[in-house]
Amino acid sequence: MSFIHPETHAIRTQSERTQYQEHSVPMYLTSSFVFDDAEDMRASFAEEKQRNIYSRYTNPNCAELVEKMCLLEGAEAGHTFATGMSAIFSTFAALLDSGDHVLSARSIFGNTHTLFTKYFPKWNISHTYFDVNELESIEALIRPETKILYVESPTNPATDIVDLTLLGTLSRKHNLIFIVDNCFATPYLQQPIKFGADIVIHSATKLLDGQGRVMGGISVGSAGLIDTIYRFARITGPALSPFNAWTLSKSLETLAVRVEKHCENALQLAERLEKHPKVRQVRYPFLPSHPQYALAQKQMKLGGNIVTIEVEGGLESGRTFLNAIEMCSLTANLGDTRTIVSHPASTTHGKLSTEERQQVGISDGLIRISVGLEHIQNIIQDIEKALVSV
Ligand SMILES: *Cc1c(COP(=O)(O)O)cnc(C)c1O
Repeated sequence: MSFIHPETHAIRTQSERTQYQEHSVPMYLTSSFVFDDAEDMRASFAEEKQRNIYSRYTNPNCAELVEKMCLLEGAEAGHTFATGMSAIFSTFAALLDSGDHVLSARSIFGNTHTLFTKYFPKWNISHTYFDVNELESIEALIRPETKILYVESPTNPATDIVDLTLLGTLSRKHNLIFIVDNCFATPYLQQPIKFGADIVIHSATKLLDGQGRVMGGISVGSAGLIDTIYRFARITGPALSPFNAWTLSKSLETLAVRVEKHCENALQLAERLEKHPKVRQVRYPFLPSHPQYALAQKQMKLGGNIVTIEVEGGLESGRTFLNAIEMCSLTANLGDTRTIVSHPASTTHGKLSTEERQQVGISDGLIRISVGLEHIQNIIQDIEKALVSV
């Protein structure tokens, strides 16, 4: 075969078959691996041989998942983690030294924000936030001790699109490690390494599993950086369970068809709600009304599965809307087959003031919809019925 498409890699990349010639790869639910003799054991520990020793280090199911994700993201190497947050923490902790500085987008996942503000100061690691809509001014924020540039795109929940090519160029100029949390796009829609990212992180819990079953995380990128991260992880122990790795590797087989359908449903819903009288604004990267429509078209294959709407009436209407929902789920996950609605101002961002929320693009009446794979008519019906009550 000449060119192997990502869809094919996601299905056909597989660990070697065992003597049983199984079609689907087995789960290697083992904590350790046996050695042939003293010399084999010595050479393995000395890392003269590449082989599995202990599942806190490596495991065949995790290795298969890493191999697939590297092919999908165009990365040299990777390592899997128990959750997205352990991938983020381990990546930062492995690469940063005391005194280093992180330049990060302000609109990032809430727990990542807490990591920067509450825990990194303990290790004398500082950070500065920048607004993703004011990238012109970020060069002035780079300090001699700045080591990492960090973004998510599209952002959650505002769906701002960050110009990855621009930041990739800036990172090379200033010798920064450019890290992108690609959770909302998945490698099917966007491959940040192509635009100059050094490392791509995923919460595999979201669209990569896509069925709300298991948690997982992964970091992929250049071999040297990943080796540093791997060495930190094998000592500190945030290993992904082989069971979850097996599940996630299976999930990737359907990633392309799932994401394609998620995006088709999301666009249809966004177009429909844009005309709704109770909806003040709809944001979806592939709607021509989105402020960064052109950039989204350039950077992403499709618009993703997150649609945000702003309902008339603010905080109280947001809550009323959630209470009137019948089918969609009120839950903390996203990227699931099931459509999920949430109201950030009264939940995840409830501790912030209205002004602080505005800074990260969250108005009081903002509803985030993680559009699932139910029939689009049923998704529209449920949401439009709930809108009647606001
Ligand atoms: C959920 C999420 C994470 C954290 O992942 P977990 O698997 O929940 O630990 C990180 N980044 C983004 C953008 C997320 O949505």
